[in-house]
Amino acid sequence: YSKEILEGTIVTTTNYKPKVDKHVIELNGVRKSYITGDLETPVLKGIDIILDKGDFIVILGPSGSGKTTFLNIISGLDKASEGDVFVLGSNLSLLKDSHLTKFRRNNVGFIFQQYNLLTNLTAKENAEVGENLSRDKTKGLSITDIFETIGMTEQMNKYPHQMSGGQQQRVSIARALAKNPDILFADEPTGALDEEMGRKVLEILVKVNKKYKTTVIVVTHNPNIAKIANTIIHIKNGLIDEVIKNTKPADPKTIDWS
Ligand code: ADP
Repeated sequence: YSKEILEGTIVTTTNYKPKVDKHVIELNGVRKSYITGDLETPVLKGIDIILDKGDFIVILGPSGSGKTTFLNIISGLDKASEGDVFVLGSNLSLLKDSHLTKFRRNNVGFIFQQYNLLTNLTAKENAEVGENLSRDKTKGLSITDIFETIGMTEQMNKYPHQMSGGQQQRVSIARALAKNPDILFADEPTGALDEEMGRKVLEILVKVNKKYKTTVIVVTHNPNIAKIANTIIHIKNGLIDEVIKNTKPADPKTIDWS
């Protein structure tokens, strides 16, 4: 394990400068338990992993295995009970809540199974919300360019109710990308979509990873979807079962959807 990172002094996102530049995430002895009343439920039971910048990563595992808990911890939505969580050179376990908020706002983007668009705003305006969330406006991507990338130029002025579920999910990708995040987190992004729309969303995630060099981290329970990644983290019962380096990621167009 990299001693350099462990001894790193960078704990805030304002002076962010990773020690090991090619590592986007380093976890060391990460555990997470949920406490309800007197009951403590261990969910993550000791996770160590190093992930490289620019990779397309899938977190795969059955329902209840701890995937969302894992994603919430590496994205700063929740805190580990134990262990070090280095993301982009910052130890999230040591960040104050205000710095964690800053980290989520400036450095990472999110998409979820539900698109959560603002219904009274157009597609373009929804994407601009993402842009405005980031303090550092100079870092953002052009909204026009993003809509071209996601194949939604013609829908830019439409309202959510005028779009299909797949189109709305693409707008939520645009919103997440507007601030040009270092990492894009996606929790079951195709969970609410049919096959055709789901494939399209995955194709866009692959395109974003290539075009903008964004590290993409997708949670899924579907082993076929995992085939599009170049790194697959297989989680079983709160532990990493295996990490698969996939030298030939599948084209989302060709994976078995059944
Ligand atoms: P997955 O995403 O693989 O389905 P989760 O990380 O959502 O798994 O959940 C793992 C386990 O943790 C499940 O048994 C779930 O019930 C439990 N769990 C998740 N969130 C909470 C919470 N906030 N409080 C208590 N238990 C939780």
